[in-house]
Amino acid sequence: MEFKYLSDPELTSAISDELTRQRNSIELIASENFVSLAVMEAVGSPLTNKYAEGLPGKRYYGGCWAVDVVEDVARERAKKLFGAGFANVQPHSGAQANYAATSVFAQPGDTIVGMDLSNGGHLTHGSPANYSGKLFNVVSYGLNPETERIDYDDVAAKVEANKPKLVIAGASAYPRVIDFERFAQIAHDNGAALMVDMAHIAGLVATGAHPSPMPYADVVTTTTHKTLRGTRGGLILWNNEELTRKMNSSVFPGSQGGPLEHVIAGKAVAFGEALQPDFATYIQNVCVNAKALGRGMEAKGLRMVTGGTDNHLLLVDLTTVAGGEVTGKVAEHALDEVGITVNKNTIPGEKRSPFVTSGIRVGSAAMTTRGFCEAEAERIGELIGETVANLDNEAKLAAVKAEVAELLSAHPLYPELG
Ligand SMILES: *Cc1c(COP(=O)(O)O)cnc(C)c1O
Repeated sequence: MEFKYLSDPELTSAISDELTRQRNSIELIASENFVSLAVMEAVGSPLTNKYAEGLPGKRYYGGCWAVDVVEDVARERAKKLFGAGFANVQPHSGAQANYAATSVFAQPGDTIVGMDLSNGGHLTHGSPANYSGKLFNVVSYGLNPETERIDYDDVAAKVEANKPKLVIAGASAYPRVIDFERFAQIAHDNGAALMVDMAHIAGLVATGAHPSPMPYADVVTTTTHKTLRGTRGGLILWNNEELTRKMNSSVFPGSQGGPLEHVIAGKAVAFGEALQPDFATYIQNVCVNAKALGRGMEAKGLRMVTGGTDNHLLLVDLTTVAGGEVTGKVAEHALDEVGITVNKNTIPGEKRSPFVTSGIRVGSAAMTTRGFCEAEAERIGELIGETVANLDNEAKLAAVKAEVAELLSAHPLYPELG
């Protein structure tokens, strides 16, 4: 990689190494993507210098007229993209967005209901290791062990029994459509608010490939860097004007200081890209490729949790190959060695620890950005299956690695960066 101004060898070599790593592996981590160079340019702009506590037109600092334009553009595009009445584009990350939004509806000690981490929920939905588990009384719901899908009856029973202030819907490792209308009915019938965290599926929601939570949820949070393919960051959306003051002040001064206006510019660029017709084509291809990855893996004997996918990700049960001996940890490492990047993941009914696991999570957002087509995705699925079934076969693994390198060379990543 070429640098114009940075001549700090410790950093230039590490940044170059990271670009090389991204170029030399098929990226299947479901929460990752590759931003456009336009997004990168905005994030690397002089906006990083500006303090802009407050909101456009109501700042605590002078000289904000230019960043006010940036933040207004970001907010307007976010609202248009998701059909939302109101938006706050300042959360530094998805976790920050969730903290701010949760705090509007629940005070420390109040009860919240969220999806269990080991069943596919997120840390911020009530994990004891996170603020959400420390500040609130958490009741978790999970999956129906038969269908491996969200057990809505279990959600309803828990909400009725515990009368929480807030119900959280959304997941980090769930391959199926989430019924937001059902969640809203359960929450609202019991006097609770509904927060939908669409971090993983925001790109699908933006293009209609997954039903939108906006008509049902009291507040919707998301990251901007997963299927939405923008810079790393958070976003909060809502429709009820009466929440506006509380929501905005829960972000600043409630949980953050100055917004990252350079990152907000990157979000605005990404929202603009997502509003273009070719983004809908991209998301369609993401979903086609996820199904193809699944078919390829199934052809090699792996089992897809729930039997497949409706979105951009698959949860893969490794216990059906090699006598059930291959753990998620071992598979992640072996796949890394052949040039395929995935993460280990717990599966429903998990018997191993979260550091070992019996599954992997595989997503198609980043590989689709890179240009891989359906036939290639299916072949990559087969290569995953061949890798985990042949961990001791060095010749086989070398052949897989060579084929991965060939697939990668057909789809160069960021050739403009040198
Ligand atoms: C990724 C994710 C987040 C957190 O995003 P960060 O930007 O890493 O803080 C929150 N919720 C869900 C469901 C996620 O998948």
